Amino acid sequence: MLLKRVAVVGAGPAGLMAAGQASKGGAEVFLFDQNRESGKKLLLTGHGRCNLTNIVDEKEFLKAFNNQAQPFLRHSLRSLSNSKLMTFFENELNVKLVQEKYNKIYPSSGKSSEVRDALQYWAVAHKVQLMHGIKIQHLELNNNSIVSVIDDNNTPYYVDAVILACGGASYPTTGSDGSGYTLAESIGHTVKKALPALAPLDSPDGWVKSLQGLDLDDVELTLYVNGKHVEKKRGDLLFTHFGLTGPLPMDISAAVSEAISSGASDISVDIDLFPDKTPSELSTELVDKLNSSGKKKIENVLSTLMPDRYAEVILQRADLSPDKLSHQFTKQEREAVIKLLKGNRVSILKTKPLSMAMVTRGGISLDEVDSRTMRSKLVSNLFFAGEILDIDGRTGGFNLQAAFSTGFVAGKNCM
Ligand SMILES: Cc1cc2nc3c(=O)[nH]c(=O)nc-3n(C[C@H](O)[C@H](O)[C@H](O)COP(=O)(O)OP(=O)(O)OC[C@H]3O[C@@H](n4cnc5c(N)ncnc54)[C@H](O)[C@@H]3O)c2cc1C
Repeated sequence: MLLKRVAVVGAGPAGLMAAGQASKGGAEVFLFDQNRESGKKLLLTGHGRCNLTNIVDEKEFLKAFNNQAQPFLRHSLRSLSNSKLMTFFENELNVKLVQEKYNKIYPSSGKSSEVRDALQYWAVAHKVQLMHGIKIQHLELNNNSIVSVIDDNNTPYYVDAVILACGGASYPTTGSDGSGYTLAESIGHTVKKALPALAPLDSPDGWVKSLQGLDLDDVELTLYVNGKHVEKKRGDLLFTHFGLTGPLPMDISAAVSEAISSGASDISVDIDLFPDKTPSELSTELVDKLNSSGKKKIENVLSTLMPDRYAEVILQRADLSPDKLSHQFTKQEREAVIKLLKGNRVSILKTKPLSMAMVTRGGISLDEVDSRTMRSKLVSNLFFAGEILDIDGRTGGFNLQAAFSTGFVAGKNCM
């Protein structure tokens, strides 16, 4: 019997998983990548350490994604859940894993190259044929079915099924240059506009830049667009010379991108330094501290509650002298400080561009893909996997898990 020939376009995490599964299932699989190696972006993940999943439960896991992706991903995440992915890595690929802060899972070696190499080794062991250094430029369609994928030298490769796993349009130097979108559009698919997600935020505020290098752990950010509350998230942030970066600002960056894309100009975030305390609880705590240190400078009292540099900025923004003594602190002044501690407003200009965003918001419209098989609803032998789809998750290992899970489902169903 002739084996079914499958072309997988893109040897990132989604493509490697899809190719290995299809090959395991009995197909003859060609895995194309325009780079001379697999998983160039995978190597960069988690600062080179690869945060490959997160072990929150399914409900929490789904909440990590853009609204449209949540129902779409349910089936894939059940087919290859976070715990099944971990078992796959530990038992089939012999990659030992560790859990870190915020339920993030990494290889215990601390090396993303171990993950990339093990995946590629596994795929090749299952007879996947690696076609590195080949860019797929066209898809040849006949009777609503793809007959060949054609490279940039015009060489056709005749196939029975195609999985597009070309990634999004962020970090194009890694090979995910948006050409997958062009391929899909050329055969009738709708692509939602690509916007930066998981990108740092630019702020014009001098006080923000003056805090360059300062980390704030476990704080809350509330995003306002044209004065309206849009979303609230919690995590860690870092002040930089241009504004805000770190997981928390990145997690709200897709909403900032959408606001900018729809023409909004008044964008800001409030930093709540004490998300677990109400203003009155914070006030009681502060009063206690002030009462027991009447002759101390307010700045020194505030510094027992937060980093010195942040205390300094809070006093500046409240228009208070750092030399003021605790017993001179009025109720009104205390309330002004509490207000800033619970909501220190940062103006936001924009996100960093797609080229500096970790993932892409937008991509192949999920309405045109069957979520149980990853099969195109428009072209009978076309499948999608990974970030090429209109799926983006927050930081913490969610995007790689989505790539692996959708790759797994596409690979199993393409034969
Ligand atoms: C700096 C950085 C850090 C990140 N860290 C994390 C993290 O720790 N955890 C996490 O979950 N996510 C992380 N991400 C996001 C994660 O890397 C992506 O979501 C994931 O790589 C998407 O996988 P993919 O297989 O869909 O696409 P990609 O990894 O982008 O792979 C797509 C592949 O397709 C190839 N390709 C594209 N078009 C063509 C074509 N026409 N012909 C041939 N080949 C083509 C590309 O060369 C590329 O190799 C990070 C991203 C970045 C940029």
